[in-house]
Amino acid sequence: MSKGLLIVVSGPSGTGKGTVCDAWRKIAKNLGYSVSATTRQPRAGEVDGVNYYFHTKEEFEKMIANDELLEWAEVYGNYYGTPLKKIQEKLAAGEDILLEIDTQGAMKVKAKVPEGLFIYLIPPSLAELEKRIRGRGSETEESLARRLGAAREEIEIGKQYGYVVVNDEVENAVATIESIRIAEHCAVSRNIDVLDELKK
Ligand code: ADP
Ligand code: 5GP
Repeated sequence: MSKGLLIVVSGPSGTGKGTVCDAWRKIAKNLGYSVSATTRQPRAGEVDGVNYYFHTKEEFEKMIANDELLEWAEVYGNYYGTPLKKIQEKLAAGEDILLEIDTQGAMKVKAKVPEGLFIYLIPPSLAELEKRIRGRGSETEESLARRLGAAREEIEIGKQYGYVVVNDEVENAVATIESIRIAEHCAVSRNIDVLDELKK
C-alpha cells in the first residue's frame, strides 16, 4: 500500500495520546497526521478539519457505505473513522502518516496493513490515568467511569501492538516514539530494495 510508514498510536483515553502526538508532530520531520471523522460533539477549542471532521450520524453512515474509511469504530457511543483517500496519497508520496485511533480501529488497520508501525501508549499507573482524565475536565462522572472501566480491557489489547511506550513525561515519550520511528525505517524488511540496488 505504501512508501511512507503508517503509524498507529493508541492507548487508554486520558493517557496523553493527543498531548504526546501534538508535541511529536512539532519536532518530527516528514510526519503527516490523519484527521479523523467523528460524530461526537466538538470539545471547547476543537476546530472542524483540524482536530476532527465533525459529522452527523447520517453523513458518517454514508461514508461507511461508500467505502471512504480505512477503518471505523464505535467508541463510547460515537462513531470515529479514518478517511482513506488523503492517507493513500500521502503514503504514496513517501510521507509517514500518524493515526491516533482506538484499539478496535487499530486492529482493523493491522489486518489491512500489517507492515504498519503499531505503538501502544500507557500511563504510569491507573491512578495517574484517572487524575489526567479529571484534570482534562472534559468528561461527566458517567463518561469518566465508562472510560476507566474500559481501560483494563483496552490494556490487554495492547499486547497485540509492536511497541509499548510509557507516557511519564511528555518529552520522554516523544523522544522514545521518534527513536522507534527512526529505527523502524532501518528495518531490513523495509530496505530490501536498497540492498538490491547497492549490490548491482
Ligand atoms: P488522550 O488523547 O489519550 O485522551 P490527552 O492528550 O487529552 O489524552 O491528555 C489527558 C490529560 O492528561 C490532559 O489534561 C493532558 O494535559 C494530561 N497529560 C498528558 N500527558 C501528560 C503527562 N506526561 N504528564 C501529566 N499530564 C499529562
Ligand atoms: P476522544 O473522544 O477522546 O477524542 O477520542 C475517543 C477515542 O476515539 C480515543 O481512543 C481515540 O483514539 C479514538 N479515535 C479517534 N479517532 C479515531 C478514528 O479515526 N478511528 C478510531 N477507530 N478511533 C478513533
